[in-house]
Amino acid sequence: MIPVVDGHNDALLRAWRTGVSLRDRGDDGHLDVPRMRDGGIAAGFFAIFVPAEDEEPADPRSRVRATDDGYEVPMEGPVPFERAARIADETAAIAERDLFLVRSVGDLKRCLAGEETGAILHFEGAEPIEPGLGNLETWVGRGLRSIGIVWSRPNAFGHGVPFRFPGTPDTGPGLTAQGFELVHACNELGVMLDVAHLNEAGFFDVVLLSSAPIVASHCGVHALCPIPRSLTDAQLDAIRDSGGLVGVVFDSAMTRADADLRPDTPLDVVIGHIEYVAERIGVEHVALGSDFDGCTPPHALDDATKVPALLDALAARGWGDDDLRALGHRNWLRVLAATWR
Ligand code: ZN
Repeated sequence: MIPVVDGHNDALLRAWRTGVSLRDRGDDGHLDVPRMRDGGIAAGFFAIFVPAEDEEPADPRSRVRATDDGYEVPMEGPVPFERAARIADETAAIAERDLFLVRSVGDLKRCLAGEETGAILHFEGAEPIEPGLGNLETWVGRGLRSIGIVWSRPNAFGHGVPFRFPGTPDTGPGLTAQGFELVHACNELGVMLDVAHLNEAGFFDVVLLSSAPIVASHCGVHALCPIPRSLTDAQLDAIRDSGGLVGVVFDSAMTRADADLRPDTPLDVVIGHIEYVAERIGVEHVALGSDFDGCTPPHALDDATKVPALLDALAARGWGDDDLRALGHRNWLRVLAATWR
């Protein structure tokens, strides 16, 4: 089995909400350590995410409103720093209790060798970072290795894209002055920056400012799924030019041409995004970013144990061993070796 590094999951949010241990095999949700092992996921980016509400919304579609030609979800307002700091602390404690934290490329190689199943600690939205960055180094010391500057809402550092169909990522202003400082500080500290959920102006601010490869951890392609969360061809080209990568998301609503949330979506829809990125910018710039426990994937991919089905389907379409290893983990190794210190 080709080991996989997965660009994004929300299992820690599920554990924070439900109290489950990610060391134990669960029968709800998509991902825990035993299911990662079964699916050949050697390591994954585990998001620390601060929800606006403590309780999970009963129906993910309940906030969706029809528009003339599609749908939109009203944008959330900013989350107060105190709430973000408390929830990030609680969530990191779950990660420290349940997971082997990957802090270096050496740790990641141990995971790829099968010695550990690893978690790369990631902020999905930089809300737990003080706008003056006073606590950034403390978080890095605690194991934080990656920061998504925004989730799909505004914060002190930048502006996230709304959930809407159809739509483009050109939805507002670029990074704030604090956002510029955050990019600089992450480059200095060797923390990965993730542009998923960032709007187009913010994305190109990061491209201009950052000295590291550009990473979009869990995204689809705008040409195939025209929503603001998807990457335009110009964004894909900029990722290639930086030496970075795209982790292709498994979500049905972020991959289907109609952006509908449907578990009966064929696996080929996700494969279409993987092959589009590989054909446009090269196989050395495409990876996987499942969004397990944070999305509605096709049934064929609806938990961590099913990842080999995706690699098998690509092999059946003519992907060779070298290309599958690039997709599975080598591209992540290259990007993280160039980013972390
Ligand atoms: Zn996300």
